[in-house]
Parts: sequence; C-alpha cells; structure tokens
Amino acid sequence: RAKSAGGNRFELADPVQDARAITRHGLTTALPAALARGEFFIEYQPLVNLGDGSVRGAEALVRWLHPQHGILGPDRFIELAEHTGLIVPLGRWVLEQSVWQARQWQERHADAGPLRINVNLSPCQLTHPGLVSDTVEILERVGLAPHSLCLEVTESALIGADDDLLKPLRRLAEMGVDIALDDFGTGYSNLANLRRLPVSVLKLDRSFTQGMQQFPADPVDLKIVEGIVALAHNLDLAVTVEGVETGAQAEQLRELGCDTAQGWYYARPGPPDRLHQLALADATG
Ligand code: C2E
Ligand code: MG
Ligand code: MG
Ligand code: MG
Repeated sequence: RAKSAGGNRFELADPVQDARAITRHGLTTALPAALARGEFFIEYQPLVNLGDGSVRGAEALVRWLHPQHGILGPDRFIELAEHTGLIVPLGRWVLEQSVWQARQWQERHADAGPLRINVNLSPCQLTHPGLVSDTVEILERVGLAPHSLCLEVTESALIGADDDLLKPLRRLAEMGVDIALDDFGTGYSNLANLRRLPVSVLKLDRSFTQGMQQFPADPVDLKIVEGIVALAHNLDLAVTVEGVETGAQAEQLRELGCDTAQGWYYARPGPPDRLHQLALADATG
C-alpha cells in the first residue's frame, strides 16, 4: 500500500507488522475501559535479603487480563498508556493496590520484619503535579509507613533530569519513601550524577546477572559488578540485583556484596498470597 517516494512502485505491507499495528491501536483504545472494568491485576515478586535469604518485600508488576488476548505483560501496554496519559490513573491504581497489599501483609505478619513494597513509576507520573499529594494521601488513608514504600524510577527517566523533575522525588525521599534507580547500568548515566539524585537503592539491570549465568562467570562482568557495588556503598546506596535465575548466581552476588536479590531462582511474580506463604515459611523455618 505504501507508495515509494517519487515512483509508481507499490510496496506490499508487512502483514505481521500490520497485525501488530492493529493490535497496538486496538489495545490503546481499549485501555480506559479496561481500567474502569477492572481488567488489570498485579503480581508480586519477592525481594530477598542476600545475607540470610529472608523475604524483605516484593515488587508490584501490573498485568492486563484482556478479554480476547488473555494475560498481557506490561511490555505490551505500559508504553501505550504513557502515550495516551492513561498511565497516570493506572499508575495511581497500581500504587493504591500495592500499598493496601503491603498493609495486609504487615498485619498478617506482625511478628516478622515489616514487608515492604516496590512500585514502578513511569516518567509521565514524575512530571504529573499530583504525584506527591496522591502518594501521601494513599499512604495516610491506608495506614502504611512511608519507609515501607519504595518507588522505582528507571535510570533513563532521570538522565539529565533538572531540579524541577527531581523536586517531587526529593519531597518523597524526605518523607521516608525510598527511591530506587531501576534498570541501572543500561542508561549510560554519568556515575558522578548519582550524588545529585535522591535515590537510596540501585537496581542493577538483568543484563549484568545474565553475564554471570555461564560458569565460570565472565570475569569482566564480575569486576564491573564489584565496582558498582563499591561505588554504591560508598554513596550509602543499597544494591538490589534483578534476574537472579540460579543458586550459583545468588551466591556469587552475595559474595560481591549485593544486598538484595530478585529473580526466578527465588520466585516468579505471583499472587499476593504466594508472597504471604513465602514470608511465613521464612519466619517459621
Ligand atoms: P522492571 O521493573 O525491571 O521489572 C523486572 C522485570 O523482570 C519483570 O518483568 C519481571 O517479571 C522480570 N523478571 C524478574 N525476575 C526475572 C528472572 O529471573 N529472569 C527473567 N528473564 N526475568 C525476570 P515484567 O513483569 O514483564 O515487567 C516489565 C517492565 O514493565 C518492568 O521492568 C517495569 O519497567 C514495567 N512495569 C511493570 N509494572 C509496572 C507498573 O505498574 N507501572 C509502570 N510504569 N511500569 C511497570
Ligand atoms: Mg522495577
Ligand atoms: Mg528493573
Ligand atoms: Mg528491568
């Protein structure tokens, strides 16, 4: 259908790409009704203390139970929701659900250390004026302590961030909310820049742990992780690693000084009761 510039040659449309475009369009227009109808749900993936293997909390990961396409992962719709602005109400919904869930866990585990909740923030939510007031309002209404919440912002969202963008994050950090720099190591940010950001946690991207899957692990990867951990700790930042898939990796990352880990080796993302069971097993066994 596409007519090439200047000629009268017609190129065939790529049917696969066409189908994807239609789906993208279809998904985009279906998003608002999906939120209203309650088609989104959240899975929780445990965050584990590498020192003693205990469950510290979980990351909230949103999914869409689409009536025709089945369960869709965030990679299929977050970007679309960002383009239409729906990410703001969707993100607020995820935050409220997650905060409420953390509060439930804490009530059921009064004797264990308080389980914490990590929630992803998209760049559009950062620039939305309601971020701080919505977060405060939700924490107060649900009754969760700010230090039980960690907001994850990707490194790329904060590259070159000016003070206006950092101000709401600073306010939240001052209240005791943890801010994590997600997918760290993929955004080519200036390491010295880290000092300027109101973050307290670095989340090392999965690409690092992937390099450690072979045995023996790539020595250069090990050196890089070792260096990042040293830098982070010098700046008083905790280090979380994502994508831990084997026990050998977990052991290596523990030896390298990483603080917290997340990955299929411990558990895949799952329903809230699954986290409850893991944390309980941990506290009693
Ligand atoms: P992320 O925040 O970096 O989340 C980690 C992703 O890695 C999740 O994918 C998780 O399921 C996956 N993962 C965890 N452990 C392993 C492992 O051992 N091996 C492998 N191969 N993968 C692992 P998921 O759930 O598909 O989420 C993808 C991205 O979507 C997230 O990356 C996050 O950036 C975004 N996202 C998820 N939920 C939300 C949300 O509520 N709001 C926003 N703005 N973004 C979200
Ligand atoms: Mg994340
Ligand atoms: Mg991540
Ligand atoms: Mg990631």
